Amino acid sequence: MAELGARFGREARRLLDELRAWEGRPLTFMEVCGTHTMSAARAGLHQLLPPTIRLVSGPGCPVCVTPVGYVDHALALAARPEVTLCSFGDMMRVPGSPPRTPRAAPPTLGLARAGGADVRVVFSPLGALELARDLPGRQVVFLGVGFETTAPALGAAILRAAEERLDNFSMLVAAKTIPGALAALVGSPDLRLDGLLLPGHVSVVLGRAAYLFLADRHRVPSAIAGFEPVEMLRGLAALVGQVRRGEARIDNCYPGAVTEHGNERARAVIERVFEPVDSEWRGLGSIPQSGLGVRAAYAAHDAARRFAVSLPPPVEPAGCRCGDVLRGLIDPGECGLFATECTPDQPRGACMVSSEGSCAARYHYRAEAR
Ligand code: SF4
Repeated sequence: MAELGARFGREARRLLDELRAWEGRPLTFMEVCGTHTMSAARAGLHQLLPPTIRLVSGPGCPVCVTPVGYVDHALALAARPEVTLCSFGDMMRVPGSPPRTPRAAPPTLGLARAGGADVRVVFSPLGALELARDLPGRQVVFLGVGFETTAPALGAAILRAAEERLDNFSMLVAAKTIPGALAALVGSPDLRLDGLLLPGHVSVVLGRAAYLFLADRHRVPSAIAGFEPVEMLRGLAALVGQVRRGEARIDNCYPGAVTEHGNERARAVIERVFEPVDSEWRGLGSIPQSGLGVRAAYAAHDAARRFAVSLPPPVEPAGCRCGDVLRGLIDPGECGLFATECTPDQPRGACMVSSEGSCAARYHYRAEAR
């Protein structure tokens, strides 16, 4: 703790003292966001919290919750000779359905590229748009994965493509919305949470008001927090305060960035281009109205509509427990493959691939985990 005080200052020390003074029943809080997961692991927060306060990871890593079936779909598109497939880097190593051949490596976009497919890493959807302009003879498909933080950029790219009549640009969209997943989680009978640490950046877009259902309908204490360790501690202290007072409310512990109603312009772009659809989440199954589908007006830029693909049912990697990790039911170390058959160099599941994945965070900062 002295080290944390030296690294993060007096407020962190005071907040830790406050948390350590909790003498009530054991509490389990979920940090919903992958950035929180990585920040907590890096700072060793799990080790610093008292034994009565447990922090579990949730489904807030977009690559981790993207289901195997989507990876299979992306691989099928990458195999088409006319397609140039573009993606954020994390998706390159997420395994698709395991091959039938024993001991063969699981397919990934990275392996597809090594095998000759035209698969490229871009840093934004606009990078893919640029490629579509530069390569008029190719069909450029961007993998649109992410939450409310990414969705405005996905929508803006589709709007730009429509304005420019860029017929060779489309997007395979698997964007998801956080409130739908939270509703499914807090309604789940096998998961007992005492509070939610809500993601700062998603909340910048959504605003505090988007979470009121958590308190009003589900009576779950919740706090929006930034990503510095001291900001997470502020959120945790707010959660403990709510539990102590028997309250369920949405505390905004990130008021410099998050407003009551969020970024209405960003949400307007999302609403213009996308509509709510049922969505498949790795580990959580299909959640009604928790995904974003491309509206019919922009069907020309929807890769799912443009390219007919017939796929066998997806198959989860054998032994991988990403689903249980993403629902906060187990710690990554409880997966039998953790750090043995599944490592960041040879990941078996998506949670070990992403820079925001719980398994990757635990692997990289194992010495600090409790
Ligand atoms: S350690 Fe690997 S195989 Fe196990 S849950 Fe995590 S990603 Fe899946």
